[in-house]
Amino acid sequence: MANVCAMCGRGTTSANNVSHSNRKTKRTMKINMQSKKIAGVKAKVCAKCIKTKNK
Ligand SMILES: [Zn+2]
Repeated sequence: MANVCAMCGRGTTSANNVSHSNRKTKRTMKINMQSKKIAGVKAKVCAKCIKTKNK
């Protein structure tokens, strides 16, 4: 699966684009994915998980 965090399982979600005339159209919200080595293995994790891991 693309764009799914290896640690928390979060992926893309859907949301609305809202224009100035308040018309709403669907959009996808991607999460902030970064590739990082975890225990010597490269994995795709989100920026939130990297933050909490370093604490
Ligand atoms: Zn994550």
